[in-house]
Amino acid sequence: MEQTKKRFKAGIMGGTFDPIHIGHLVLGERAHHQFGLDKVFYMPAGNPPHKQNRKGRATDEQRVEMVKRAIASNPHFALSLVEMNADGYSYTYRTLERLRAQYPDTDFYFIMGADSLADFHEWKEPQRIADAANIVVATRNQMDPVRFEELLEQQSERFHTEFLRLDTPNLDISSKNIRAMVRNGISPRYYIQDVILDYITENGIYLGEEE
Ligand code: ATP
Ligand code: MG
Repeated sequence: MEQTKKRFKAGIMGGTFDPIHIGHLVLGERAHHQFGLDKVFYMPAGNPPHKQNRKGRATDEQRVEMVKRAIASNPHFALSLVEMNADGYSYTYRTLERLRAQYPDTDFYFIMGADSLADFHEWKEPQRIADAANIVVATRNQMDPVRFEELLEQQSERFHTEFLRLDTPNLDISSKNIRAMVRNGISPRYYIQDVILDYITENGIYLGEEE
């Protein structure tokens, strides 16, 4: 009997991770379970040259270091630096097409929040993203559940593919909010892991006014 080789399932969690918070981690973990992903790759986006070393923000190196520390204890999470090594910036469609060419036996699951799905058609080459990966979407910003389903359907029709719903509770947490808490001397404890809070404190990140 012919053996059909099981295809590898890779989740991709892309983001700025400035800093990585428990929302990002919950999404990866839930996607791993719901879709049987073999690995979830956390893929920090490189900042374009004109956005390097902005005041009130972490450097690329610090963002990568925080991701590393955040995922260290999870055996099915991994770090991907493919968007960091390019000249600082890469479009998602290019990254996914490259990965597809490089790993033909892998199915890719690109994970995003509903805010990203809402403006997905404004991304660079969205059709090529939709063709290159399954897209898995988690609710965000208290989106009404009916509205969320409609949005999934709308975008599925528009891009002739099925956008998949990731079953997560609404997690009211964003990096922007965490940066503001640190800047204002409010503890972001439990929104981010202790190791990340320690790293931020030790390195004095997010203290200055954001540019
Ligand atoms: P910022 O406030 O700086 O935009 P963020 O919290 O949105 O940061 P990003 O790095 O921009 O984090 O997000 C990466 C991806 O994770 C995006 O697709 C975003 O929609 C998703 N995401 C981030 N936080 C959440 C959350 N709390 N619930 C659902 N999705 C989230
Ligand atoms: Mg965001």
